[in-house]
Amino acid sequence: MIPYGKQDINQQDIDAVIAVLQSDFLTQGPQVPLFEAALMQHTGAEYAVACNSATSALHLACLALELGEGDWLWTTPITFVASANCGLYCGAQVDFVDIDPVTYNLCPKALEQKLIIAKTQNKLPKVVIPVHLCGQSCDMAAIHALSLQYGFKIIEDAAHAIGGEYQGKPIGCGDYSDITVFSFHPVKIVTTAEGGAALTNQQALADKMSLLRSHGITRNTALMTPVAGFDMQAQGDWYYQQVELGFNYRMTELQAALGVSQMQRLTQFVAERQRLALRYNQLLSALPLTLPTQLAQTNSAWHLYVIKLELELELELELEVNRDKKHFSQKDVFKQLRESGIGVNLHYIPVHTQPYYQAMGFVYGDFPLAEGYYQQAISLPLFHGMTDAQQDEVVRVLTQVLGA
Ligand SMILES: *Cc1c(COP(=O)(O)O)cnc(C)c1O
Repeated sequence: MIPYGKQDINQQDIDAVIAVLQSDFLTQGPQVPLFEAALMQHTGAEYAVACNSATSALHLACLALELGEGDWLWTTPITFVASANCGLYCGAQVDFVDIDPVTYNLCPKALEQKLIIAKTQNKLPKVVIPVHLCGQSCDMAAIHALSLQYGFKIIEDAAHAIGGEYQGKPIGCGDYSDITVFSFHPVKIVTTAEGGAALTNQQALADKMSLLRSHGITRNTALMTPVAGFDMQAQGDWYYQQVELGFNYRMTELQAALGVSQMQRLTQFVAERQRLALRYNQLLSALPLTLPTQLAQTNSAWHLYVIKLELELELELELEVNRDKKHFSQKDVFKQLRESGIGVNLHYIPVHTQPYYQAMGFVYGDFPLAEGYYQQAISLPLFHGMTDAQQDEVVRVLTQVLGA
């Protein structure tokens, strides 16, 4: 099976992890700050807080922005559930904004329309989480302009997008957001096995996230508070205080060392993914498919290569019964590709259609563009280390399945 995504581990990565195993620190040593420095160096962000997953980083980001009960978090339905769940962890309510039909990213126009209505209802969001789907940046300038007008904070979910660019600058630089979150799961661009990070240019947010990453415990006397009947001056070097309710969201030294080593190949990873994506664009151009669209001001990290099948959706059937299109279903195409050894996938099932979200009152039909996308999309294999022969095989099987 040619997988849809796969990590690329070389001898340097392996040596880096082994060196940590032979060192004094398996956690809370020098590698995590080194990895954070590599992330700052790449993005230009002033602070980076490495975590044990992007999910944890999203949670910390929401907490740092003081999202809580009575607040709203808005995101896109076409994302992994973590982009929405982080709001629920904080006791906030979650709502969604429909997608742009061309990029499949959160649509700034739909966002503006929803903001206008929310304002009249006094239900404006405190945090909006645009997701850079497939590695292509959202229209951050437009979303940022709306944040100034309507007073919400922005967390970029850049789980797909490390190594991508927007307006000529690295995603994560924070020009248009408060916090950017990366994921280092093995299917993403660079990996630490499990892992994530939150980047920001605001020291207060970085401090808060660092504190909550490790139980809300501090050894920094400046952050300590007096305890009645307790002589703080008499305490020795062992002394620490818990000043907030935090978590253990720390990244290990093994993970960070792998991350440091992987970051050295980030540019190469993205360049190769882009080469393969452009090659797909050429090889698939004659098929009855919608290929990914790249906007001029973006440079995708190409986490995913999503095609849309040109299907007769129910809606179209009603309008134009006799359209001369091939009759195949998404389910059949998917099944035949998998049976032929092509590890296709689907990103994503719209979050609002998940039973957990349906129980909160969302219904199928709430976000028609996201739902329409979901009925047509398929992610083709794309990873660093994929050979041209493997890619040719994907194209051969897909061409056969589509009967083109
Ligand atoms: C993978 C992913 C996450 C979660 O990342 P983890 O590191 O697995 O927690 C969040 N958002 C999006 C869009 C993702 O693709």
